[in-house]
Amino acid sequence: MKLKKPLSSLKEKLRLLIYIIIILTLTIGLTSIGLSQELQRKLDHLINQDVSKIMYALKLSNNSQELQLTTVRLSSFSTNSERTELLNVLVEQWSGLERGLLSLIELETDQAQLAKLNAHLSTIQLAAKQIPLLAQLTENAQEAETQASRLKLNMGLIEKGFSRAVSNELTKLDQKADGYLSQKNYPQLQKSIDEHRELTDFLHLGMQVFRLAAEVDDNADNKTNNQLQREAMRHFLALKQHPSSSKIAAQLKEDWLSQIHPNLIGSSNLFISSRDSVNSGRIANTHLEIQADAAHQIALFSSKLVEQVKKQVDIEGQHLKDDSNSFVWLIFFAGVLYTFFIWLTNWHFISKGIIQPVIATSNAMQAIANEKQNTPLPQADNLELQQMVSSLETLKSYAAQVKSISEIDGLTGAYNRRFFDHKLKHELKSTSKFNQPISIILFDVDNFKLFNDRYGHVIGDQCLKRISYALKTLPEMQDRIFARYGGEEFIVFLTATDNQTASDIAEIMREEVIKLAIPHADSLHNELTTISIGVTTSNSEPGITAETLIHQADIALYQAKASGRNCIVSNLEFKAVNNLR
Ligand code: GH3
Ligand code: MG
Ligand code: MG
Repeated sequence: MKLKKPLSSLKEKLRLLIYIIIILTLTIGLTSIGLSQELQRKLDHLINQDVSKIMYALKLSNNSQELQLTTVRLSSFSTNSERTELLNVLVEQWSGLERGLLSLIELETDQAQLAKLNAHLSTIQLAAKQIPLLAQLTENAQEAETQASRLKLNMGLIEKGFSRAVSNELTKLDQKADGYLSQKNYPQLQKSIDEHRELTDFLHLGMQVFRLAAEVDDNADNKTNNQLQREAMRHFLALKQHPSSSKIAAQLKEDWLSQIHPNLIGSSNLFISSRDSVNSGRIANTHLEIQADAAHQIALFSSKLVEQVKKQVDIEGQHLKDDSNSFVWLIFFAGVLYTFFIWLTNWHFISKGIIQPVIATSNAMQAIANEKQNTPLPQADNLELQQMVSSLETLKSYAAQVKSISEIDGLTGAYNRRFFDHKLKHELKSTSKFNQPISIILFDVDNFKLFNDRYGHVIGDQCLKRISYALKTLPEMQDRIFARYGGEEFIVFLTATDNQTASDIAEIMREEVIKLAIPHADSLHNELTTISIGVTTSNSEPGITAETLIHQADIALYQAKASGRNCIVSNLEFKAVNNLR
């Protein structure tokens, strides 16, 4: 057996639907918020972490390149103030690099990368610590260079003095020689020429020494300087051993050799100073190279880091793009599903659950209003509409009752006079249209007043009921309007029935009443209840009305009464209604 599904309340269903829609809306909304926050987080990471990382790394790269330039400038500074300034710049640049690297360390999350950053931080800190040493070394180099320059300058001054003094002496010898020549003092002339040659030779040797001293360069390597020193020493010794034939020449030589001596042979001579300058410069430069190399390492690392983070940004950017695309599609499909769900629920609950049953109920109501009693009532799957349908059923039965009350006579169950008149008028119109005869049978219970007087009204009512039932159920009465016309008078109209047929039917009716054998002591016909009948027929006479027709039947009935009752009189003579009254 099929179990009937219990009806659920429409209100409950709609409440459930609203809850589902709220939950769906919240789910979609919260999912969207969650996903967009995730995207936002990724975007923030990309901007705040990766892009910042690139910026710091780029800055680090630039700063370390600038630092390398500073080391280059420091290797060839010209003044002490420039050196100090460059050293200060170097300190600033190392601390700038340290700050940059610390910022990168703060941003870094990868452990391997963090270890590299820390290693570079140590390099920077070590390099920064070495700056005082570098200051000392560059100061030493500068001092040595100054000393070497001073000695070179000194040698230059001595050279000038020496060449001037020797040239003066040579001029004097020339003048002397000129005098000896004019005096033709040839032995003295010869002596003077020898002295001149000796001095010229001395000058030449001296100039060689000065040339070699001038060649000493504090930028040249030590090997070249040593070679120059050896050469200069050789010339200086030759100069020292140079013979002096005159007292003046001997004095001159002694004077100048004593001046040259400390510059070439002294504890801090030109060559030693120059070598000191070269060596200390080299040491300082080596330290500067170490610094430059450290900066170069930082520059290389930061450029690599920039490339690495750029790649990372590209990958993360692509991921972000993919994620946002997926997010858009997700929201789109959720929207489509949501719309489909709303449509489905709308169709199921509102269209199928409410509108369709309401339309069906409305149609049913209209049909009931149009007196279509057999109208089937719609089925609803919810409590409220089913209650409405049930009320409609009650209304339907009320409508049927009202209809029957308005048409049926309460005592006899025959149609009432109002209904009969309505039907007759309607029928007359169509019969006249089709040119068909229509007959009326009007009958009245004979001496019914006496019946009532003798048997009482209750028995009288029963009598009327029996006669009515017996006659209206006759086969001849099938599909006919059999009505109680008033009191104990009944009336029937017979469409498409001529007067003879109507009279025959009337006869059957009269006999049927007798057959009922209702005792009537005051009746003249075997003490049985009888009826008198008036029959009339219209053969589509023009202008015939229901009133005229009934009036004619009434006349016939009157005649039947007058003829002794329990008989039938047929009246075919139509007269104007007014004339008959
Ligand atoms: P006749 O028609 O043969 O000339 O005589 P009658 O006695 O039938 O005449 P009348 O038409 O004067 O009387 C009709 C009576 O019918 C009067 C009334 O008491 C009775 N009657 C009318 N309607 C009813 C009813 O519904 N129930 C009962 N018991 N009597 C009714
Ligand atoms: Mg009467
Ligand atoms: Mg009567």
